[in-house]
Amino acid sequence: MERMELRRRLDSCEKVLIGLGEEWKLQAGQEDGRREQVRKAYEVLYQMIKDKDYFIITMATDAVIYDTSLGSRKEQVSSAGRKEQEISLCNGVKEEMLARMERVFPKRETPRDSRWERIVAPCGNETWRQCSKGCTKDIWEPGEISDDRCPHCGAPLTRNTIDAQIYIEEGYLPQWERYTRWLAGTLNCDTLILELGAGFKNPGVIRFPFERTAYFNKKAFLCRIHKRFPQVTEELKERGGSILGDSVAAILEGF
Ligand SMILES: [Zn+2]
Repeated sequence: MERMELRRRLDSCEKVLIGLGEEWKLQAGQEDGRREQVRKAYEVLYQMIKDKDYFIITMATDAVIYDTSLGSRKEQVSSAGRKEQEISLCNGVKEEMLARMERVFPKRETPRDSRWERIVAPCGNETWRQCSKGCTKDIWEPGEISDDRCPHCGAPLTRNTIDAQIYIEEGYLPQWERYTRWLAGTLNCDTLILELGAGFKNPGVIRFPFERTAYFNKKAFLCRIHKRFPQVTEELKERGGSILGDSVAAILEGF
């Protein structure tokens, strides 16, 4: 698809779902150049989506995103301040459908999210610590446990990511719940699904679920950017587009 078309879709859509795949993951020992490039790309992405109602799911575990404007704990997502009714009632959602959705996903008291709350990292956060033996669901901030040993069983602490022998998923689950509630609210809304650099290494995190989301929401459009596998499935031919190339570079170029 043309980059201009993607720009136009981003401007006009009501909601934006963003998936950051392996291309955004900084590897140990990777040169500083890439880290700087990714950091800048987060800032460009922030400028692109800051006024939209969006959610980001990322496979990166390096937590760099939280040091950028996208991860701000103070600034709120601008559309979250709108009246709840306006958020829920996108064109054509029937009242009874809405009532049913609300039974499954109860309304929150306050629909105001900080930017930090619009990111979920299901593969974990390597700056957080957990018990390497998985004896407790406790998770600690860096430096919180001075000897870096589990206060419950004495085992060494390890990074709270899927690479831990026993991954303590409690680190991301509250955000995951927020994500699924937000996703339910995109039903029948004009939603741009922007999949950036998610390949086939762990397709169950972003790639396959995004295809399903795009398939079921007939007003959604999936744009897939990947340096090797940008193709969309046959079912999404009419409501999908591909851009071949490194997704980090594509964002830095403003698509
Ligand atoms: Zn322990």
